[in-house]
Amino acid sequence: MDQDYNLAEYSPRLIAEQTNRRRTFAIISHPDAGKTTLTEKFLLFSGAVIEAGSIKARQGRRAARSDWMAIEQQRGISISSTVMQFEYRSHTFNLLDTPGHRDFSEDTYRVLSACDSAVMVLDVAKGIEPQTLKLFEVCRSQNLPIVTFLNKYDRPGRDPLELIDEIEEMIGLQPTPITWPVGPPGNFLGVIDRHDKTFITYERTARGAHIGAEQKTTIEDARDRIGTHIEKAVEECSLLEEVGANFDRESFLQGKSSPLFVGSALTNFGVKHLLDAVATLSPPPGERLDDEGNVRSVTAPFSGFVFKMQANMNPSHRDHVAFVRVCSGAFIRGMTVVNAETKRPFATKYATTMFGNERSTLEVAFPGDIVGLVNASELRIGDTLYLDEPVKYPELITFAPELFAYIRSTDTAKSKQFKKGLEQLEREGVIQVLFDPKQPNTPLLGAVGEMQFDVLTYRLESEFQAKVELRRTSYRFVRLTDEPTSAALDKLGGVLVAHRSDGELLALFENEFRLKRIQSDHPDWNLEPLVGSG
Ligand code: GDP
Repeated sequence: MDQDYNLAEYSPRLIAEQTNRRRTFAIISHPDAGKTTLTEKFLLFSGAVIEAGSIKARQGRRAARSDWMAIEQQRGISISSTVMQFEYRSHTFNLLDTPGHRDFSEDTYRVLSACDSAVMVLDVAKGIEPQTLKLFEVCRSQNLPIVTFLNKYDRPGRDPLELIDEIEEMIGLQPTPITWPVGPPGNFLGVIDRHDKTFITYERTARGAHIGAEQKTTIEDARDRIGTHIEKAVEECSLLEEVGANFDRESFLQGKSSPLFVGSALTNFGVKHLLDAVATLSPPPGERLDDEGNVRSVTAPFSGFVFKMQANMNPSHRDHVAFVRVCSGAFIRGMTVVNAETKRPFATKYATTMFGNERSTLEVAFPGDIVGLVNASELRIGDTLYLDEPVKYPELITFAPELFAYIRSTDTAKSKQFKKGLEQLEREGVIQVLFDPKQPNTPLLGAVGEMQFDVLTYRLESEFQAKVELRRTSYRFVRLTDEPTSAALDKLGGVLVAHRSDGELLALFENEFRLKRIQSDHPDWNLEPLVGSG
């Protein structure tokens, strides 16, 4: 391929500078806590949108499962965007979207593996909710630094001190408030900045569609105006001081403590402070370890890994997009890189960036950025791409399926499309495809959640015109196994050993009791749990 770019223009110094400007992060929250609203406000404060509310509302997203289909069809910003890039205070932010539904925990895991930090949004009336907990655990497993935003303080809620305790007790993350609210939830008068001991008030704007002014005064001044509320807040700040809930960079970067901000995304209160924190406290992309534990510096030649695949994003031209997180070096469109898995070259002529439904050609990207590679049907989730100096990043973990069903096409004339669709959806990580040696012509699917099956059948029909029938099985538990153990299991009966398409052997059990029993009767058999195995 003719080379119309000059890599020499991208010196290690320039790459380091660009890397340090970048903040690649995700917002994690339980549905309804305010992730969408906060995302909008980030875009508003960065100037990427002029008026909040311009991003398509996602009403009903949380409701029935079938709604997911409709929304996914509409391809609203939250679902198809994957990444929103915006500039703020001389930084380039890459905000990665995580799927909201719990059945997509595996996707979320992959997205978070492409982030350098996260913002955790909590509803002040609810505190830590089940989905927050799950997402937090994923962040913790990857040691991601987390900034906490206590949202909806304009509405009645719980005592913030109580919430601080709850966070620490429930998830073992120590909140270190940077701002502290004045007034109880529902009567939000402003915040105290614990660092410079000032009192900040916010101007309301209609529906929070525009940025209101902020006013900073001394606490003394505020005392005269709002007496008791500020006294209480000052007292609470002393208490925080006493228990040592102060910002500590080291433990924040290790994911052990979390700077906390109080606000209301809806009215824009506290949003700027939070955004500033992501800019100044959250880490830039750093060196990464490859699958042998060697360090790949950000200034090394280009490398990155595929953390998400999506097909048919644009119905007018059916395409496959591989989302690649850049880990080192400059990515320049037109480069021919190498796929570390297959050692085959991959041309990057069709590199894009996306914002909402708009797609534009991307010319250059730096560590922390996300590149969308179009026509990437030969790439798979977890693949590493590199230039010049070989590297391979660790495989992305596959979660243990918890539901299994045989699938067959009900229309034999469409069997080709059926096969193609199944391969595609497997590549995107929607489901895992297994083969039961006793029924070699009927693929057995493994899913982490019920919704994966819905998505699969819907997409096979709508995108591949293949009507299918699923036959559920009663298997619920899975272990990785090997040939000798699988031969022994075969003799026992009631256990199904299936081959996964990546070559792994999986043993499926109907209930935990049976699995435990077999393990205790045969401690020498090889039955290893997968991530998330029950
Ligand atoms: P998501 O499900 O986490 O994306 O939550 P949304 O951003 O869609 O918010 C859920 C609901 O809470 C919407 O009706 C928002 O208008 C509302 N909401 C979000 N942030 C605030 C806030 O700070 N104050 C109030 N009162 N409502 C909020």
